[in-house]
Amino acid sequence: RKFVYDFTEGNKDLKDLLGGKGANLAEMTNLGLPVPPGFTITTEACKVYLESGAEPPALRDEVSAHLDALERKMGKKLGQADDPLLVSVRSGAKFSMPGMMDTVLNIGLSDASVAGLAAQAGDERFAWDSYRRLIQMFGKTVLGVDGDLFEEALEEAKRARGAATDVDLDAGDLRKLVERFKAIVSEETGREFPQDPREQMDLAIRAVFDSWNGERARLYRRQERIPHDLGTAVNVCSMVFGNLGPDSGTGVAFTRDPAGGQQGVYGDYLANAQGEDVVAGIRNTVPLAELERIDKKSYDQLMEIMETLENHYRDLCDIEFTIERGKLWMLQTRVGKRTAAAAFRIATQLADQGLIDDAEALRRVTGAQLAQLMFPHFDEAKAGDGGAERIGKGIAASPGAAVGRAVFDSATAVRRAQEGEKVILVRRETNPDDLDGMIAAEGILTSRGGKTSHAAVVARGMGKTCVCGAEELEVDTRRRRLTAPDGTVVEEGDVISIDGSTGKVYRGEVPVVPSPVVEYFEGRIRADEQAGELVRAVDRIMTYADGVRRMKVRANADNAEDAARARRFGAQGIGLCRTEHMFLGERRELVEHLILAETEERRESALDALMPLQKGDFAELFEAMDGLPVTVRLLDPPLHEFLPDLTELSVRVALAEARGERDENDLRLLQAVRRLHEQNPMLGLRGVRLGLVIPGLFTMQVRAIAEAAADRRAAGGDPRVEVMIPLVGTVQELECVREEAEKVVAEVERARGADLNLAIGTMIELPRAAVTAGQIAECADFFSFGTNDLTQTTWGFSRDDVEASFFATYLEKGIFGVSPFETIDKEGVGALVRTAAEAGRAARPDIKLGVCGEHGGDPESVHFFHEVGLDYVSCSPFRIPVARLEAGRAAA
Ligand code: ADP
Ligand code: MG
Ligand code: MG
Repeated sequence: RKFVYDFTEGNKDLKDLLGGKGANLAEMTNLGLPVPPGFTITTEACKVYLESGAEPPALRDEVSAHLDALERKMGKKLGQADDPLLVSVRSGAKFSMPGMMDTVLNIGLSDASVAGLAAQAGDERFAWDSYRRLIQMFGKTVLGVDGDLFEEALEEAKRARGAATDVDLDAGDLRKLVERFKAIVSEETGREFPQDPREQMDLAIRAVFDSWNGERARLYRRQERIPHDLGTAVNVCSMVFGNLGPDSGTGVAFTRDPAGGQQGVYGDYLANAQGEDVVAGIRNTVPLAELERIDKKSYDQLMEIMETLENHYRDLCDIEFTIERGKLWMLQTRVGKRTAAAAFRIATQLADQGLIDDAEALRRVTGAQLAQLMFPHFDEAKAGDGGAERIGKGIAASPGAAVGRAVFDSATAVRRAQEGEKVILVRRETNPDDLDGMIAAEGILTSRGGKTSHAAVVARGMGKTCVCGAEELEVDTRRRRLTAPDGTVVEEGDVISIDGSTGKVYRGEVPVVPSPVVEYFEGRIRADEQAGELVRAVDRIMTYADGVRRMKVRANADNAEDAARARRFGAQGIGLCRTEHMFLGERRELVEHLILAETEERRESALDALMPLQKGDFAELFEAMDGLPVTVRLLDPPLHEFLPDLTELSVRVALAEARGERDENDLRLLQAVRRLHEQNPMLGLRGVRLGLVIPGLFTMQVRAIAEAAADRRAAGGDPRVEVMIPLVGTVQELECVREEAEKVVAEVERARGADLNLAIGTMIELPRAAVTAGQIAECADFFSFGTNDLTQTTWGFSRDDVEASFFATYLEKGIFGVSPFETIDKEGVGALVRTAAEAGRAARPDIKLGVCGEHGGDPESVHFFHEVGLDYVSCSPFRIPVARLEAGRAAA
């Protein structure tokens, strides 16, 4: 096995073996671009080291051979006293990863060679500057010395000299600083800074290997589902110097604007500096365009290289470069990150240029990006007009733009929201007690906690805007105020604006602009020349996605208005109409009558009263979805949901009694509430169980459905109705319900002289149903996977309780990377879906399979459902474009 590859030996497709950085350095080398020579130690070597605790025996010799070759090429030896070859040791895994070891520059410098470097460069200051950087980086990242100690010593040196920045320190200052740094190393580690260049290099390589198993890196991998056994590569790259005076420098560049996608000159440049200075922000950079004035030759060459790279990678690239005394060197490139809008624009621009085809353009955008583009956003340019000012920034935890009055506790949030005010709940951090306030608020702002904090997790689950971890904002819940670093104070009741897509926080009201992409989906903007480039890009990619996808996309909708909106968004039917939503409001009383009915007559009259109302709802819905399938789910929730709250009612009755009054109806109601009270309603009397226990309930619903369909047919329409039975666990349940339903349908058909073609099917949302799906399929025309309940029942946790209580902890510990209610748990819940789909198809080849849980609109889950072979996904109207796009990507 070969453990070391020269930059000339690799290529961009070897990321598994050479890591991202190494593979791309090799690619650039082979393109003939000016890359400082070097070599890459493979991830394989790292794996051996991690497994056995020692470098593979062959590695040392291979590194020596490559170092020899490098020294010959460069005409000098590593650390050679009179003219030292220096190298950088750079980590580089397949995926870039926080927590991995930082790069160490200037390896090879020592007390012996610093003078040689000075003489060769004719610049003593430069040599001491490079040496102090080496000790600082090496001390911190390889030897584990607290970096602040070096920073403080550097500050001290600047103070002593009265220097504003590090460039103002002269050779003598830096030489003294080196002594100080060396003293820090020996004080902190009990040993001297290593003077042997090869030892420096070997220690740095080993430190990179070790950092793979650092705590932060492990946690990151667990959360991002990156396997722990990939290992990291290590790049050894000969040094070029951007700190050799004003005709040297270092910079970063993008081949296009990563924010908007336009081609142009984007980047930053810093003269007389080494790489890490640009990112660290220790001195002010200049825009890349300035380089044309500073060094035209290098600038022109850089532009040419950027074009080469973009044509070669056929994508936006980001670049690190260094100029050493007028000579340009390329130090890194990779396909660059970009905003959601830029992703769509770049993909279509590249397709227009003929660099990629439509399928590739589709693969390069994601549903998550599309979802981002569908949120309204703040008009930042107008923020100042209304007197709003930015007061801080936190972590963008859950997207959206929210404006409201600041409140500092949950109870106040609830109270003010009930009074019709829009509020933003501001807390240091949230816990399960804050849930009511979070529900009542427009958005949530916290000063502590990251993307997996309670606030972030719960807000995302609710689809509510959230900025968390805004540490610079001081939240004082006792005094009900928030203080910004500049002293601005926000008192309770003051209006604030929070941007969950960028993390920005404003005092005052920032105007909100609707998303042009939503306006396009709504049909209010046409994708013609007048539309913006973004809308045209979205239109083009969506059209292609719709053409290639195999899965259909339906909507979860219960009323004509939602159905119509869903249709505009591209829904191809309704996958879930929840009939319980039709039993709320004024009709609740009728349901009460049904529940309280003591005689058959009373029950029947209660059902008779409900039936025409149900029929009316269905008539509207079938009309809105004419010609497309509509799946109607029979009543699912436990009945107590339609009755008053036990405590409230008990209090009411007790108070009445105290007054010597007696309300018969309340008393009967109270009895019923007590009777129906359940310890765990999620697992109680609900779904098909209701249909079997309450005579006439399901048949009333089926009759309403059939009558509405017959009316529609009589009016010349084309209703395509599917009746869905929830919470079935065994085929016997379904058989009972089906038999009765068929009788009713036949009656209606006979009476109306119409063949209604009603399909009858079931939800698969209990593990038992999934496991016995073969039997159930004998009795079902279709399956719809209710993945919300299936997730609850498979994991044994109730969503309403666990998301607010322990999910944040689970996410922090990396037990799962994302909530299983957000993305389907493929190995557990997904395996049940797969089993049931296969068994269902085997028993009944023409069975229709769909999914109607929240997962139907989640990108990763959509890919899984495509792979399992489902016919459609169903999701909330707003997620439909996302599902269409991802179903297309899954098929492209
Ligand atoms: P990161 O992954 O954090 O970007 P890099 O390995 O790219 O780490 O290095 C950090 C900085 O050091 C970058 O600005 C890079 O350009 C610079 N750098 C790395 N190797 C060299 C080298 N051989 N010569 C000059 N600068 C270098
Ligand atoms: Mg880099
Ligand atoms: Mg369910």
